[in-house]
Amino acid sequence: MAKFKCSVCNYIFDGDEAPEKCPRCGAPKEKFAKLTDDKAKLVDKSRCSNQLHVGLMTVLDQVHSIAEAGINDNLDPACVAIFARARDEAKLLSQFIRAEIEVHVSKGKWG
Ligand SMILES: [Zn+2]
Repeated sequence: MAKFKCSVCNYIFDGDEAPEKCPRCGAPKEKFAKLTDDKAKLVDKSRCSNQLHVGLMTVLDQVHSIAEAGINDNLDPACVAIFARARDEAKLLSQFIRAEIEVHVSKGKWG
């Protein structure tokens, strides 16, 4: 399927031809340009990658919550150390992912 990009708001439309109006900003059909096949493939690839990042962040949020509960449970110092490490690593990875997604957005990869 072809992809068309709105030159006003960068919205990417999937279809055989450009929409009459941009679903996002309302710009007319003439404002859309068809993406080359290479560029369209790149958009698909980055959508897939961004979804994986979002999936990982969801799991990391769960790890963070479980780790907090484990720290509060406070059974013994060894357990607390494990939960504290899990909480800290989950937080760090989430921050890395946020930064990476911002890079994707700034490069226009978020289709
Ligand atoms: Zn638009």
